[in-house]
Amino acid sequence: MLRFAPSPTGDMHIGNLRVALLNFILSKQLNEKLIVRIEDTDSQRNIKDKEKDILNILDLFAIDYVQVLFQSDNLKFHTKLGLDLLLDKKAFNCFCSSEAIEKDRQKAKQSKKPYRYGDFCLNISDEAKLQCNAPFAVRIKRPQKSIKFKDMIKGEFSFEPFDVDSFIILREDKTPTYNFACAIDDMISDISYVIRGEDHLSNTPKQIHIRDMLDYKKSINYIHLPMILDITTGKKMSKRDETSSVQNLLKLGYLPVSIANYLVLLGYNPPKEIFTIEEAISWFDISKISKSPAKFDIKKLGYINSMHIKDMDDMRLSKIIGYADSDIGKLAKLYLEECDTTQQIKSKIDMIFSSNKKDETLGQNLTIVQNIIKKAPYFEEFEEFKKYIQNESKLKGKEFFKTLRFVITGAHSGPNLSEIYPLIKKFIGEIV
Ligand code: GLU
Repeated sequence: MLRFAPSPTGDMHIGNLRVALLNFILSKQLNEKLIVRIEDTDSQRNIKDKEKDILNILDLFAIDYVQVLFQSDNLKFHTKLGLDLLLDKKAFNCFCSSEAIEKDRQKAKQSKKPYRYGDFCLNISDEAKLQCNAPFAVRIKRPQKSIKFKDMIKGEFSFEPFDVDSFIILREDKTPTYNFACAIDDMISDISYVIRGEDHLSNTPKQIHIRDMLDYKKSINYIHLPMILDITTGKKMSKRDETSSVQNLLKLGYLPVSIANYLVLLGYNPPKEIFTIEEAISWFDISKISKSPAKFDIKKLGYINSMHIKDMDDMRLSKIIGYADSDIGKLAKLYLEECDTTQQIKSKIDMIFSSNKKDETLGQNLTIVQNIIKKAPYFEEFEEFKKYIQNESKLKGKEFFKTLRFVITGAHSGPNLSEIYPLIKKFIGEIV
């Protein structure tokens, strides 16, 4: 079983979507099921109904899963297994106040050392515990040996017991900490592969240690995806960054098929540049993703988007931009020379059909040509249409073409009118 485990604490960003897509591809390749686990135990940061947006995006990208689980549904197991570890003396009650811990943290910071728990409560006798009224958290004991695992992209890792540390698994209010909940959930769901961002790399030894202490024998294969940097700033793409929001990219007119194509391409050397997820399932090898950070380049995404728009069925494209005629789809494709999103194309086509084409510099010419077209007979060929309008208007050369282009497209540049005309001739009345 594989899992995609988003937190409902913010909008889906490209990093999350990349994790979801690669989980989907690997699940298909392995013929294993994929579940979605909503990690909703951080009640302070949860945003109401955010999981609905996340699931909508998964649907839009045709990422199939067999079930949606909520981490909060497993709380009873987290508490029970925390108690088991306590009774087995693999965990201990920690009465240290958060102020005391914070003091130690500051001390460590001042002496430029990483903070580690000072073992104050490690050896408190059961009698002393019984007499203690203070609230307590539950800490798991640090491992005896180093924790080793192999990441399928980055290779071998080994974490020393000191670095894994004796960490809290149940807080004072007995709610599980993130690592404890996640380690148990992966165990309960019989997860065999975990794909997630490399920001979780330091959580992995802790989660393995938790399962070791619970005597869970199955080992999980790990894939930590290198982070995504913004190619223009060289900085990590932040969750708050507009360009990294999937919703925003969709709004700008990047198609799901293009966004998916680009995210699978990040840090990968594919046999072809333009592909669908279905195709990628047959050749993608997750272990071949580059170890170094990937660079997000919106221009490259634009290029990929224009290639997918070009391949798209004309009628479908027309519908996406708000029309329902395959000639409009063909017309939209003419604009791929200058546009790379459906939104940009839509504004060009909407301008053609706009009843509000104004340009002072054209003066009277605009209405003259408009009126001629309104009264003109229907012309099958652009050449005949052009000749007729030119004769009637008596406009010459550049001035004529400039006016005619503006009357038809509402713009001063764009594809050749001779290419546009055959696609709009049946709408010419509406256009003028
Ligand atoms: N909920 C975590 C996140 O959104 C994912 C954790 C995991 O995949 O293990 O970053």
